Formats: sequence, structure tokens, C-alpha cells
Amino acid sequence: PYLFVQRDLESSVYTAVAKHLLERGDWKKQPRESTRFNLMLGDRNKLPWHRFGQIPGLTQVVNYYRGSEILCRKSSMVRTLKEHCKKSGVPEFQWLPKSFVLRPKINPSAQDTGDQHPAKRQAVARSDEREELRKCAQSHPLCIWIAKHTAGAKGEGIKISPDVEQLIQYVDDQSGAYICQLYIDRPLLLSHGRKFDIRCWVLLDLFYNVYLYREGVLRTASEPYTEDLSQLTQHLTNHCLQKELSENFGRYEEGNEMFYETFDRYLGSTHGVSLESAILPQIRTITRTCFLIIQDHINTGSCGYWSFQLFGLDFLLDENLKVWLLELNGAPACASKLLPEMVRSLVETAIDPAFPPQVNVQHKENLFERI
Ligand code: ADP
Ligand code: MG
Ligand code: MG
Ligand code: MG
Repeated sequence: PYLFVQRDLESSVYTAVAKHLLERGDWKKQPRESTRFNLMLGDRNKLPWHRFGQIPGLTQVVNYYRGSEILCRKSSMVRTLKEHCKKSGVPEFQWLPKSFVLRPKINPSAQDTGDQHPAKRQAVARSDEREELRKCAQSHPLCIWIAKHTAGAKGEGIKISPDVEQLIQYVDDQSGAYICQLYIDRPLLLSHGRKFDIRCWVLLDLFYNVYLYREGVLRTASEPYTEDLSQLTQHLTNHCLQKELSENFGRYEEGNEMFYETFDRYLGSTHGVSLESAILPQIRTITRTCFLIIQDHINTGSCGYWSFQLFGLDFLLDENLKVWLLELNGAPACASKLLPEMVRSLVETAIDPAFPPQVNVQHKENLFERI
């Protein structure tokens, strides 16, 4: 049988992948520290990269691309996308809300921290874009801005304000990089005037082909959208945040999740368009562009091992049906309703090509569509 190790017991997706492989009968699970394995379902922040591809004749695959953080941390994503445009002499991407990287100003009275090293201080200062942000905000005085921690998740540590000075002050009181981004303040709204974002799952296979999962999830707000920026449950659509903070969680959609079929009907009846005609082409273009830009950085073409990776991309739609990219997550969870089919399709797309099934596998449709 083929051999795998499973090191991330927190991941619902890879726990299900491991179970799927074991049930199939041609895979065997090895102890966590084993060096002889074909597939590592790794711990994303603790991957032993030096260990891969060291055993002659042994094909090894790992479920992360080394370096993919340059898209999956918010400040690196902003830097990566902006630098690409600058270098290629093309205008900034119109689907990334205008974004600036902010670094907390180092408090000069603080002693004995590594951050006090002058070289480090200079490097930090160089990558801070607060002056550009101020200029931009001055020329767009009616705009609202959103500050997000570079490694934040689940809507935590986010602040929204029309006053960039207030946001800069906020960031200076925190630690770690932030992005300050244009707030898309006229989002498309669902029934009862509620905001939502769209989570799409994207798979990079062993050969760096890009796939979009056919199903996605709209994560809906529990309260009608208003201009009151202090009402987090109207403005931030993260599942955990809605569940924790709103009494109306689950009132409009089960678990505040709407699936494509329902949304497609809503788009048809309110706008006379379909998801396929009006929305998905934009999502495919944005997705392809992001992964193309970092291909030379992260592909494993010349490594002694292979990678694949599942990503969760968050998009926002505005009232003109324009799609905006909010963030890419490098280790997404999966809506439980979609999990079984996604796991089956993932194994077929990203694992089977390196390790052809040695048992009969019943053929079912693969829901990852190459884009
Ligand atoms: P997190 O990692 O915390 O999920 P996101 O970038 O996905 O970070 O932001 C969390 C939520 O905040 C989004 O799902 C969306 O509802 C809202 N949001 C984030 N950025 C913007 C923006 N630029 N304009 C409008 N809403 C936003
Ligand atoms: Mg996130
Ligand atoms: Mg994130
Ligand atoms: Mg998000």
C-alpha cells in the first residue's frame, strides 16, 4: 500500500482525507515522525521541508506549497499584488480594494526588544505605507477604511472607520503588520438587506494546475446592513463572529450559509442574471491571476517532492455585481455539507495522479473544475 502521515489533527478537511484514504484500502497510515511516507498531510506552520524528497526512488507529496504565505498573509498579499503591477508596468488590479500595509510605530521608550535594532527599525519603516494611505484618503474624503491584522482570521481584530488617522492610531497600539483597505461600503445585499461574502475553494494540483470547486458558500450577516460601523454583525460576515455575537444567527439561512443554487435564483429574480454569467467569470479571472503571479516563486517543478494545496478565497460583491478579492486562506475549513464530495474530488485531482488507486474506485463526477 501507499504510506501517509497525518500531522494536523485540527484540520477537518485533512482528517476527512485521511479517513477516505484508509477506507479505500490501498493506503496505510504511518506514525507521525516516520520518514518513509508517500504523502504527508502536514501541520501547516511546522512543515519539515528539508525532509522531503531525500529518499531515492520514493515519490513524496505534501499538502502545502512552500512559500504560499506570500498570498495567504494579508500584508504579503497586498505587497505581492502591488509589486507585480509595478514591475510589469500595468495599472493596479481593479478587483483588489485599494490597500496599504501599516506597521505599528515602534515605541522609542521601549527597551530590550529585538525590534529596537536600527536595521530592523528601518526595514519596518520602509514597508509602512501610511503616507500613501493618507494621500489616498485625502483625495477620496468620502471613503471608509478597514484595518485588518495580516494574520487575522474569523473577523477578529478588525476596525472600520472613515477616519484613517483613527485607524493608524489603532494599528500603532497593536503589534504585527496590518493592512488598511478601502471598505466596500455599497455591497450587494440579500433579502432583509443583509451583507454576505462568498467563500470559494481553490485547489492547486501537483503540476500547478488551478481548479475552482463547483460549489461555494455565501456567508450571510444576521442583521440588516446600515451605516452604523460599530455594528460588527452588520458589517463582518465571518461565521464565528455572527454565531457568537448575533441573536439572529441562523434566522434567515441555516447556519448563515447560502449555497450557489439559492443565490443563483436570487440573482435571477433581482438582477436578471445568473451566477455563471455575471459572477463566476470574475472569480475565475481573479483566481487565475493570483496563482499565476506567484507560480515562479512556489512551484515544485525543480524540487525532489511534489505539493498540492487547497485554498479558501473570500470575495465580496458590490451593488454593481463587481467582485472584489478580500483574502486568500491557506488552510481553509470546508462547509460540512460540502465536505464529503470535496474530499473525494480533492483526492482524485491532487493525490491519485501521483499514486494511482490500486483498488477499484467507483467513478463519480469530479467537482474541481480546472480554470
Ligand atoms: P478574516 O481573515 O478575518 O476573515 P477578511 O478579509 O475575510 O478577514 O474580512 C472579514 C470580513 O470583513 C469579510 O468576510 C467581510 O465581511 C468584511 N470585509 C473585509 N474586508 C472588507 C472590505 N474591504 N470591504 C467590505 N467588507 C470587508
Ligand atoms: Mg481569513
Ligand atoms: Mg487569513
Ligand atoms: Mg475571511
